[in-house]
Order: sequence, then C-alpha cells, then structure tokens
Amino acid sequence: MDTVADPEELQALTTRWRREGLRIGFVPTMGFLHEGHCSLMDVARPHCERLVVSIYVNPTQFGPKEDLDRYPRDPEGDAAKCLRHGVDLLFTPPTLYPDGFSTGVTVSQLTSGLCGARRPGHFDGVTTVVARLFGLVQPDLAVFGEKDYQQLQVIRRMVLDLAMGIEVVGGPLIRDPDGLAMSSRNAYLSPANRERGLSLHRAIFAMRDAARAGETRASALKDLGHSLLQVDRVDYLEVVDPLSLKPIEQVSEGSRALVAAHVGGTRLIDNVGL
Ligand code: AMP
Repeated sequence: MDTVADPEELQALTTRWRREGLRIGFVPTMGFLHEGHCSLMDVARPHCERLVVSIYVNPTQFGPKEDLDRYPRDPEGDAAKCLRHGVDLLFTPPTLYPDGFSTGVTVSQLTSGLCGARRPGHFDGVTTVVARLFGLVQPDLAVFGEKDYQQLQVIRRMVLDLAMGIEVVGGPLIRDPDGLAMSSRNAYLSPANRERGLSLHRAIFAMRDAARAGETRASALKDLGHSLLQVDRVDYLEVVDPLSLKPIEQVSEGSRALVAAHVGGTRLIDNVGL
C-alpha cells in the first residue's frame, strides 16, 4: 500500500491508472477508522482494480461550535486497517484546498431538512470536498455508508446533476454488538452516555417492528420512538420517503426512519428501513 499526502502526486497516480484502463474504487473518510469504514472498503474491493481511501477531517463541514478541534485521530491504526482491507493507495492530505480556492457545490432540496436543517452549511462542505476529491481521485466507483443516509442521497444527486460519471454505491450501516451504530464520535461517549446512546437504535427498531406489525401512521411511529429515546436533546426523529427525504404521513414500502440526538455533548445519528 502506498501513502500519498500531496494532492498533485495523488492525481498523477490516478491519471496513470486511468490511462492504463484500471478501474478505480474510492472510499472517502475522516479517519479514526472502524468496522463501518472497513466494510465500505470490502464493498468496493471486488469491483475495482485500484482501491483508494482518503482520510481528511474536512473543516468546512463542521459548524463553529462543533467538534473539529477534538475530532479523534489515529493515523497508524488507520493505515494498518487500510492495509488489512486491501487498499492500494491511502491519501492523507494535510490540506485539500489550494490558495485562492473559491468554488462551492450546493445540492438544494435534499439538504433542506434533517441534518441539513440542524447543521447549516454542513452539506455544502461535504459536497464541495467530495467534488474536489472526485476530481483528484477520478474514481469509477465510490462507496458511502448508509449510516449517513442523507449524505448518501445528496452525493448521488450531485453525481447525477453534474454528470460526474461515477457509480455511487451505498454500504449497509454497521453496528456494534449492542446495536449502537458505529461512529468515530462514539469515542466521546462515557459508559453511561453510551448506554443512553443505545436508545436511538432501540427507538427506530421499535418503530420498524411496529410498522411491520401493521402500523402505517408515521405520527404513531414517531410517538413510539420519542417515548423510547433517553437523550439530552432530539434534533429530529422523522419518517421519510427514501429518495426525496420528505417527511411522510403514511408508511409504505421502503420508507425510512431517521434520528439525530445529543447525548452528553455528543451528536449521534441512526436510521433504518421500515
Ligand atoms: P466519516 O469518516 O464519518 O466521514 O465516514 C466516512 C464514510 O464511512 C461515510 O460514507 C460514512 O457513511 C461511512 N460510515 C461511517 N460509519 C459507518 C457505519 N457504522 N456503517 C457503515 N458506514 C459507515
């Protein structure tokens, strides 16, 4: 596995691979890798001849009061995991934006609700950095986790709208054995807060079970979910159409429950298909 920090060096390598006709797979991350990230590498690996993983904690997708400064890091552990999962090239730029960088990519509509409403500017930061990473890596295929369900739909929209010609693949949400959705931010949780954090998955899985048992009213499902949450603050608990991400009143095939909540200063998200 090669590790490259310089964006131009990275692009020279991927340009050569493209000229040689090699299919490039890509998994962008912010590091502090866990099994959720590694599962995306495993999804990509059989579908590409060169697998690139990037690790970059992108400042522009963090709000002014968010956790950019304390975001957990483990460069050596990350590299070992990438090696184990067959990564060919690990891209670890110290910064990604050249002097004078002045371009932004905005996806509207899909970003107006859920995390977009609660984290102003977040998705602009995400789509802009992912667009730049796509330009550098020039992937044929990019894998994103369903853990960040709204992000996955926003990236799909961007790739379609800007005719980027990249196949965007969603990887399933990976959980710890106790059900907590894996996240780099789980490192912030004390044992007591982790216990309360488990209420997110309990809430949405109870909603799923109720939907399977025949409850079709989103309001009833949300009441049930709220009654189970043991958090400090709920950002949202919604039942949405899986493509438009618009809240719905009646559940149908494919509808999705999404939750975001704060536990002891840590923001957690989770989602499940109903
Ligand atoms: P992050 O490092 O948090 O920016 O995440 C990088 C990628 O890993 C994104 O596509 C996430 O959706 C994905 N990811 C993070 N956690 C999980 C998880 N528990 N299961 C599946 N994918 C995940």
